[in-house]
Amino acid sequence: MTHDLIIIGAGPAGMAAALAASKLGLKTAVLDEQSRPGGQIYRNVGDVAPQAGRLLGPDYLHGRPLAARFLDAGVDRHLATMVWDIAQDLTVSAMAGGRGFQLRAPQLIAATGAMERASPLPGWTLPGVLNAGAAQIALKSSGSIPSGRIVLAGCGPLLLLVACQLLAAGANIAAIVETAPAANRWAALREMAGALFAPKLLAKGLAMIRQIRRARVPWFAEATDVEIEGDERAAALRFIAAGEQKRIAADIVLLHHGVVPNTQISRLLRVEHAWVEAQQAWKPQLNGFGETELSGFRIAGDGGGIAGALAAEASGELAAIGAAHALGRVSSKERDRLAKTPRRVLQSQLRIRPFLDALYRPPDWITAPSGGTIICRCEEVSAQEISRMVELGCLGPNQTKFFSRCGMGPCQGRICGLSVTGILTRELSTTPATVGAYRIRSPLKPVPLATIGNIALEKEQVRR
Ligand SMILES: Cc1cc2nc3c(=O)[nH]c(=O)nc-3n(C[C@H](O)[C@H](O)[C@H](O)COP(=O)(O)OP(=O)(O)OC[C@H]3O[C@@H](n4cnc5c(N)ncnc54)[C@H](O)[C@@H]3O)c2cc1C
Repeated sequence: MTHDLIIIGAGPAGMAAALAASKLGLKTAVLDEQSRPGGQIYRNVGDVAPQAGRLLGPDYLHGRPLAARFLDAGVDRHLATMVWDIAQDLTVSAMAGGRGFQLRAPQLIAATGAMERASPLPGWTLPGVLNAGAAQIALKSSGSIPSGRIVLAGCGPLLLLVACQLLAAGANIAAIVETAPAANRWAALREMAGALFAPKLLAKGLAMIRQIRRARVPWFAEATDVEIEGDERAAALRFIAAGEQKRIAADIVLLHHGVVPNTQISRLLRVEHAWVEAQQAWKPQLNGFGETELSGFRIAGDGGGIAGALAAEASGELAAIGAAHALGRVSSKERDRLAKTPRRVLQSQLRIRPFLDALYRPPDWITAPSGGTIICRCEEVSAQEISRMVELGCLGPNQTKFFSRCGMGPCQGRICGLSVTGILTRELSTTPATVGAYRIRSPLKPVPLATIGNIALEKEQVRR
């Protein structure tokens, strides 16, 4: 064993877990692909230029003291380090600067966060089409904004947040095209009572809507039949809104249909997942301290279910408290006492979720596309090819790999996984739980053979 606890991810969940673990005296290592702590929401928060920080807003700057405390916490930090495998005994294989190495601890917290849901619609693979989150990453990392006319299309709070941040940065937003179906509003109204317990979050939403209205950005709702037009690159967005065909010229199209838990590590470790109908995504099954059915393996933050940054911090703290208890460093009584505050924060952050999930539920033509739209970008497999596989006897995502290498490219099914499950569910007239998900194998991300080789070589040298 090299440590008491290994944490993968230095976003709000990973940083909060590391701070709690270090307070409880655990020898902790934190690994993150990014070269600075912060995760998605607080990306680069410690080094961002003051002007960019101001326009990204107070929710972003909230991460600055957290990141500073994390850097001072005395944990063993491995930044710019990508984890590509975790064995059942929780040995972590990672790569930094091309060199492979392994760490092992009896407790492991995966705090690997969320990813944007894919938005497979005609033309989404053209140059000039990005996820809205990618534009935000550029803004946070280097203060840059896309040039030319930008159209944002999709649904979810992050779509509106990115629109507001780009407007504040002086970007040219030609239109916002929302795809949330009309039925979402009625479903959301039924969840309004819970949302009223989160007045600050509701106020933030209303402030974003006001900012966009003030900027007089053309805003279309309940759009259907959305297509990106272009030969060499995106040239326009076509769609139907209020019964009329529209076309908006664009140099950049930013797509977004919500965020979903990144389950690559939990799938790799074969722990149980449940389908969450409201979020149209999988969620690993966890106890109150983030532990999975695999002893010592915990998940914190959005990777355990989408709940936002403050909830991620609280769940990170709970997972670290659970790890300290499992290691015999705190009694059950002390564990339950320490858990009180983060548990209260978590519960209060979760109150608005049913409302947001209902309001921004993505349309069926995004979760289960059809026709010639590419689904697996790596291997160029279309929706109709996946439908055809069902006619030939395919019963689940893993079989699509045998038919076409679908999900076997460099992204290892991270991007297409949910769409493949959606299409198979429709074609087989069954449920996502019956269809299942891709079986994930290591390496989680592409890694040079030499990196794997150097781990084997070092082990051999130690053995000798
Ligand atoms: C693109 C994007 C932008 C977002 N922007 C916002 C925003 O502006 N405001 C907001 O409220 N919410 C935003 N969210 C939602 C947001 O992610 C969270 O609510 C919050 O950041 C979740 O915190 P977390 O600690 O669970 O995960 P994250 O903050 O996502 O942190 C996870 C960390 O794990 C690391 N990681 C993942 N896999 C590996 C691996 N294999 N090896 C090593 N490290 C790994 C990542 O590099 C990352 O730093 C965004 C989500 C996405 C996907």
